[in-house]
Amino acid sequence: MTAEIIAIGTEILLGDILNTNAQYLSRQLADMGISVYYQSVVGDNETRLIETIQNAMSRANIIITTGGLGPTTDDLTKETIGKVLELPLIEHEESRDRIIEIFNKRDIKMPSNNLKQAMIPEGAIVLENNNGTAPGFIVTKGKNTIIVLPGPPNEMIPMFCEKVKDELYKLNEGIIHSRTLKLCGIGESTVASMIQHIIDNQSNPTIAPYAKAGEVHLRITAKTNSNKEAIDLIDEMEVKVRNIVGEYIYTTDNKTLEETVVDLLNNNNLTLSLAESCTGGLLSSRIVNCSGVSEIYKEGIITYSNEAKMKYLSVSKDTLDEYGAVSEQTAREMVEGLIKNCNTSTGIAITGIAGPTGGTKDKPVGLVYIGIYYKGTITVKKCNFSGNRQKIRDRAVVEALIMLWNEIK
Ligand code: ATP
Ligand code: MG
Repeated sequence: MTAEIIAIGTEILLGDILNTNAQYLSRQLADMGISVYYQSVVGDNETRLIETIQNAMSRANIIITTGGLGPTTDDLTKETIGKVLELPLIEHEESRDRIIEIFNKRDIKMPSNNLKQAMIPEGAIVLENNNGTAPGFIVTKGKNTIIVLPGPPNEMIPMFCEKVKDELYKLNEGIIHSRTLKLCGIGESTVASMIQHIIDNQSNPTIAPYAKAGEVHLRITAKTNSNKEAIDLIDEMEVKVRNIVGEYIYTTDNKTLEETVVDLLNNNNLTLSLAESCTGGLLSSRIVNCSGVSEIYKEGIITYSNEAKMKYLSVSKDTLDEYGAVSEQTAREMVEGLIKNCNTSTGIAITGIAGPTGGTKDKPVGLVYIGIYYKGTITVKKCNFSGNRQKIRDRAVVEALIMLWNEIK
């Protein structure tokens, strides 16, 4: 089973936007064991689009296109695919009703050309779009299956996950399944050496470590003839790995570290408040990315200056004068102030030197103190991160999440 990805849109050719759709889809297909040998980008031009689709059809079973499903005349993906496959476009009633309803709800008069988005090649499976007006579709002709998805990633990705994946599993007979064990608080080389004997003896399933910012991901991949067999093999491998590095695994279902922490807080009826200095709201921003966060997140205070640390967190002037803003003592007082002022059951404070300036011999760039409050106890950790300003701030945020996860789990 091979697939090919075609990103459609002149904007991509002009360099106005980056083709992240192709990257996302390639990664997903690789995880499913479907080989991708070609990706292409083509502008909103009928002749070249026809040529691109025909080429892809001659080389791959599955063709996935993104883009060009909009209401304007430069969006010509469906018309062109209809032409190539010699299928007429017919109005899909449910999609038409949905589009009308979306405009009614927004209380906007619908431009008549929006109904063009309900036109679908005859015989196609329609993929409802829960995040926009343009439905996608899957159409099969001979040995080719063409999957047509909208361009905006926030519409394309949910449609792929919720609807397309299952169809691909049905088409893909030798089933490949993979599961990613996500670890934090341990380095890649340490993990690799701890599970070296497993890596050395792998065949089916295979296991591969990947280093991510402050995390290590272990991808287990099994190739079998049935779903159940694949899952059994992966389960078996997961148990072996857990016996060795289980304490570092924070998720096996593709959640992010912040989602894991937010779920953990939710499940334990805990609340969280944050005081950030050098990270300037970065941790707060990652926390509020998660759904369900309103149940647990109380306040986030950015106290960048010394005055702000005194004003909002009651850090004492003496402490700042004696030990400095980047010190264990200040981090501790920041947490104390947070707990006193925010009526919260857990709290994190971060203070550090992100650079590139401001470092000294005693307090180099990358020095960060992270304070955590949980169950009546404050723990402060001294960290020395390397890298540029952005990287140091990112590492501080990841470390804070890891510390809280470790405290609560
Ligand atoms: P619309 O209804 O918004 O016109 P569409 O399906 O016609 O959607 P395009 O017009 O091709 O899609 O692209 C709309 C937007 O989607 C682009 O401006 C861009 O932000 C995003 N987009 C399109 N293609 C890609 C891609 N390959 N990778 C990342 N983003 C993309
Ligand atoms: Mg468009």
